[in-house]
Amino acid sequence: MRNHWQDAATRRPGPVERLVYRSRLIGAQESLGLFGGGNTSTKCRQRDLLGRPQDVLWVKGSGVNLKGCEARHFSPLRLEPLRSLVQRRSMHDEEMVAFLERCLLDPKAPRPSVETLLHALIPEADIDHTHADVILALANTHQGQRLVRRVLGDHLLWVPYLQPGFELSKWVYEAYQRQPTAHGAVLEKHGLITWGPDGSTSYRRTVQYVSRADRFLAKQRRRRLWSVPRWKTLRAEERMTLLRRWLPAMRRTLSRHRKVCLTYVDAPEVLAFVNAARMPQVARTGPATPDHMLRTKRLPFVVELGRDRSADGLSPQAIVRQLEQYAGIHRRYFKKHHRSGQTMADPYPRVLLIPGMGMLTTGKDGTEADMVAKIYTHAMAIMRDASTVGRYTSVSEREAFGVEYWPLELYKLSLAPSESELAREIGLITGAAGGIGRSIAEKLVDAGACVVVTDLERRAVEDLAEGLNRRAGRRRALGIAMDVTDERSIERAFEAALRAFGGLDFLVSNAGVAMVASIERLRLADWERSFAVNATGHFLVARAAVRWLRAQGLGGTLVFIASKNVTAPGKDFGAYSAAKAAETQLARVLAIENGEFGIRVNIVNPDGVFDGSGLWRTIGPARARTYRLRPSALEAYYRQRNLLKARVLPEDVAEAVGFLVSRRAAKTTGCILTVDGGLREAFPR
Ligand code: ZN
Repeated sequence: MRNHWQDAATRRPGPVERLVYRSRLIGAQESLGLFGGGNTSTKCRQRDLLGRPQDVLWVKGSGVNLKGCEARHFSPLRLEPLRSLVQRRSMHDEEMVAFLERCLLDPKAPRPSVETLLHALIPEADIDHTHADVILALANTHQGQRLVRRVLGDHLLWVPYLQPGFELSKWVYEAYQRQPTAHGAVLEKHGLITWGPDGSTSYRRTVQYVSRADRFLAKQRRRRLWSVPRWKTLRAEERMTLLRRWLPAMRRTLSRHRKVCLTYVDAPEVLAFVNAARMPQVARTGPATPDHMLRTKRLPFVVELGRDRSADGLSPQAIVRQLEQYAGIHRRYFKKHHRSGQTMADPYPRVLLIPGMGMLTTGKDGTEADMVAKIYTHAMAIMRDASTVGRYTSVSEREAFGVEYWPLELYKLSLAPSESELAREIGLITGAAGGIGRSIAEKLVDAGACVVVTDLERRAVEDLAEGLNRRAGRRRALGIAMDVTDERSIERAFEAALRAFGGLDFLVSNAGVAMVASIERLRLADWERSFAVNATGHFLVARAAVRWLRAQGLGGTLVFIASKNVTAPGKDFGAYSAAKAAETQLARVLAIENGEFGIRVNIVNPDGVFDGSGLWRTIGPARARTYRLRPSALEAYYRQRNLLKARVLPEDVAEAVGFLVSRRAAKTTGCILTVDGGLREAFPR
């Protein structure tokens, strides 16, 4: 690990700015800790309200990510009362939290880290605490203490596993008193602490010890294999076929407690881990550091392969049975260890390991599932390295429960914003690059959904997805080129969607084309093209969606964007109106056939949507000729002919789709919702 410290950068105005600089350096190294793991602090003199100088501890707020942190993520506390706690013999967590809160100098500061007391009691100016992978690989072995001393020397204190809180802080404080020349401490099954008289020293020590452990492990890795491989990686197509077969039932089961998205990872290091003979035993030992459990749970789910030892012999029912067994084990674990007032978390796994196939992880959206995958990929490296140099060990079941159901740890999860209406829902939108499609995608992503946006042009949908992800600040969109008239293309898009999000909950069938000509002049090719996209295209995509929704068994929604022309056709628009009428009948039959599976099917009839519409750019002039108008007068013409004299916007159509997709429309199916400003002749009947 390289030392990235630059002295110039730390000639910064104040101690907090210097702390932020150092914390960001640490946060930038993913092998030191991820997503809120680890914490840092500095001690300084600062004046209070009345201008009197006092000792202050600045420490990271609970749940804050060191990567990219800012000054507002740190909490200032009065050090004097915190130091006096060394006199105490014990202190309950609730009491500790209340005490810390009353030491805060700024009432608006975030809740200080659960490891604050440890930072306060050690009388060193700067302290860094990380969950460095390579340190854990040494400390999480049966001979951890000996190994750590051999590899890292005797300037690090060894601290047997204790749950963070008062007891651990006091333990480290007393060890420090016995050896005040120590550079830091290794916390068994937990992580590393380094300290020093200034930030550059504490940081340098983290880098030094991590590098030393890294070099040692690299040498060991070259010398011996941690495990012989037992399973063979299936070919890419075989893996995809199995995913398609398993995912509907898997997502249904994993969503029993709360709906989840899944992400599939088959990176080489993941495959190497899941295919190793020792994988099941090592993975079932426990987490690499308690902090991981917040996202990964205590244990991953390891798929048991049948006697033929290959994933393709396994039925979806067999996997469901195994998943239920896993949930049963979690229920018993909760029953055994819980105290009154605690409620059981989702008993289903967050990490699923499948020999020959790779890993699936779950989360409320792509970002959360990716986080779990990333944390567990680091855990795999720790388990592999620990198994190379010894026998991998982890916290006991009771210790794990202590952290997994620890209110102070769960507090970190409570910091997430509340979930929007369509959170945990996954949808596919066709024709997404056009004005209406784009508006629908934005509306649904804003409402919390994950969407696969499809259209003919790859660049257009990829750019759109990128914009949507930026807008949400999370991975919630995927852009896939898809032709609604081509079965293979639809199949490939669905596969990509499954890989990225693990399932489907709704379809917005929006793609369409328009051609203007009187029937007497209409070319057969144009008639056929209109039917291929405006009728058959809806059929092919809806069929694929319904097959998936039925297999998944979680209900679902289809929304068809039709047209005012279905109920009130206009002249010179025969090919379009007839195909759109076919689309509408298709939607109604789908509603009839799928109601019993909880699948709702509805139709939106817009009229005269000009903004951002590619359709109008192409047919506008022709429509203007039909009505004997100048092209520039066409928009006003459409506005004047509706009852509300309204200009219909893509956002208005998106609003209707958002409603029909949501639970607010839970009792509505087979319905036409008009978005046309009110047209008497187009009233649905
Ligand atoms: Zn920690």
